[in-house]
Amino acid sequence: MIIVMAPAATEDQIQEVIARLDQRGYGHHVSRGVERIVIGAIGAHESEKEAVAEQLSTLPMVERVVPILRPYKLVSHEVDRTPVPVRIGDAAFRGNELSIIAGPCAVENREQLLQAAKAVKEAGATVFRGGAFKPRTSPYSFQGLGEEGIDLLVETREATGLPFVTEVMDVRQVELVAEKADGLQIGTRNMANFDLLKEVGKVSKPVILKRGLAATGQEWLRAAEYIASSGNLNIILCERGIRTFETETRNTLDLSIMAWARQETHLPVIVDPSHATGQHQLVPPMALAAVAAGADGLMIEVHPHPDRALSDGPQSLTPKKFKRLMEDVRRVAEAVGRSL
Ligand code: PEP
Ligand code: MN
Repeated sequence: MIIVMAPAATEDQIQEVIARLDQRGYGHHVSRGVERIVIGAIGAHESEKEAVAEQLSTLPMVERVVPILRPYKLVSHEVDRTPVPVRIGDAAFRGNELSIIAGPCAVENREQLLQAAKAVKEAGATVFRGGAFKPRTSPYSFQGLGEEGIDLLVETREATGLPFVTEVMDVRQVELVAEKADGLQIGTRNMANFDLLKEVGKVSKPVILKRGLAATGQEWLRAAEYIASSGNLNIILCERGIRTFETETRNTLDLSIMAWARQETHLPVIVDPSHATGQHQLVPPMALAAVAAGADGLMIEVHPHPDRALSDGPQSLTPKKFKRLMEDVRRVAEAVGRSL
């Protein structure tokens, strides 16, 4: 970290900072410029860095303390990690090829799952999705089928060969889901549930980490760092829209942060235009924009009968609309040098 002293700092105040660094066992390097004196702290320990920076910033005449390394070193590009694609079944994320995850918002019954899975597979999706544990805004809304839903997803995989991802909302669900699913999803409401992040960090299955609906890019990557630092580097980031002043759409799709995250980390970054817009008519244009902007894949809600869906019907594509979208996605992907 770098400690920037205020212009009026006295020699005693500078020595006070150096003494503090010495006490902590850190080295230091003082640069005396014309207007400013800056002190570089050397050898800061990861576990206490943030607290030490905060403590130093309270000293008289310390103007600010600037970290040098990013606080998410495992997922950052800083440590020079070339992207290694994360795989869910045979689908690879962050190679040249895009991978598409599709399926209903919630697991409702066997027939619904089978119809949805067959349709999305035929259209070119390579990973199936469906929630068994559903984070609903109202406690009176359909809460998902729970364990029974996971078993239906397993049956659907046996019937279609499509791997599936499904959300875990609680640490108590992680073991079961990690055993049966091909990938675990952390939903937007749980992005900052640090105990849950640590728990999914202990399994080897890939984790889709959705961005919190009011999380900054930094907070999102620091959440990913929780998973990585617990041992699991198989993380796929998913931008799914954030809360803004705009109320015409369910959320606001933040494509800039998708592009930023791809630049900042070696992790794959996918986009979920379904939860971002909340309206099926807006899903295709936003899906295509995401692909044009470099997303490594998409997550799209598809329901065989949106008019009968128990959750998120208005944003679900019919199989027919999904098929048409996939044809367009292929063309846009090719136009930007990617493939599907
Ligand atoms: C979902 O994918 O079903 C879901 C609940 O998404 P989010 O956490 O982004 O709202
Ligand atoms: Mn949904």
